[in-house]
Amino acid sequence: MNHKLRQQKLQRELEQSRLNAVLITSLPNIRYLCGFTGSAAALLVSKSQSIFFTDGRYITQAQTEVHGSRIVVGRKAPLISAAEWFRGKAKCPGAPGKFTLGIEAEHLTVVDRQRLARSLALSVRLGVASPWVEKARILKDADEIKSIRAAVLLGAGLFEVVLKTIGPGVRETEVAAELEYAARRAGAESMSFETIIASGPRSALPHGRASTAPIPSRGFVVCDFGVILAGYCSDMTRTVHVGRPTVEARRTYEAVREAQQAAVATVKPGVSLSEVDGAARNVLKRHGLGRYFTHSTGHGVGLEIHEAPRVAKGQNELLQPGMVITIEPGVYIPGKCGVRIEDMVVVTDRGCEILTPTGKEMIAV
Ligand code: ZN
Ligand code: ZN
Repeated sequence: MNHKLRQQKLQRELEQSRLNAVLITSLPNIRYLCGFTGSAAALLVSKSQSIFFTDGRYITQAQTEVHGSRIVVGRKAPLISAAEWFRGKAKCPGAPGKFTLGIEAEHLTVVDRQRLARSLALSVRLGVASPWVEKARILKDADEIKSIRAAVLLGAGLFEVVLKTIGPGVRETEVAAELEYAARRAGAESMSFETIIASGPRSALPHGRASTAPIPSRGFVVCDFGVILAGYCSDMTRTVHVGRPTVEARRTYEAVREAQQAAVATVKPGVSLSEVDGAARNVLKRHGLGRYFTHSTGHGVGLEIHEAPRVAKGQNELLQPGMVITIEPGVYIPGKCGVRIEDMVVVTDRGCEILTPTGKEMIAV
């Protein structure tokens, strides 16, 4: 990972803007820009400098991990250390409001903004920075794709554990427990989000976290899970059927599978995100299930489980090689059942590669 290059790219964006410097407070953005993986940090990037702030707990870690920035270890919270450093060192012109420091509006609480404003010199004005780093993170470099690939493979291997554990009467949390234990045993840093195991009528909840409900003797179980490995997330969903599926259940499953494959088939450079979403939606509409597909088709995945871009209606941004997105249409019939199938794909020069190696044919256990 070339952190210096990433920071230079940000500095070029700064040069084009009305801001003199930007204070990065989103931890994933900080990790992306300089490599720091700890939980307390702020990164101040001006057109010519890059200063990393942390507290005493992270002296050693910062020295090993941080690249491309000067390290300042403060006694106060990193945000305040940054503001005070700024007040002491920045050569701000005398007139008030001459120097504009950009903040990440999405990643700073109202209270922290007030604290920051109080600690800065009067000549410094706060402005809102564009989401430059989030935008840069959309395109993954070769190292990142390698890391994502490894996370996806580890995650996908856990599906076997799910299949071994699922059965009538087994509680959803037991399935999640076995899955998460196996993930840690295999070297995962953590799960990338709270494991979803949603069985029977709960499968109709798109985000049905594993509950203490026992799995019914017949019906779908939506299993959505992912791991973090070397900082990068994986995300996959498979829906398993317990007992013999009815004709209707089979039809619903096959419609979702067709929608998922239709969306994957559209993924290539130059196609818009909304077109990919539309491809899945049209298939489900054709099967009379359109109104039960209640979320967007997918999202970017990287250092965070949900990051830009969104694969959704109205997203006119075009796919580019290096984007890593999920394709995850679903059907949720309230009080009855739900099905979702989710893969991660990477956009290549000519199309896409499905990273998730797991089959999608209907499995009845
Ligand atoms: Zn998922
Ligand atoms: Zn997802």
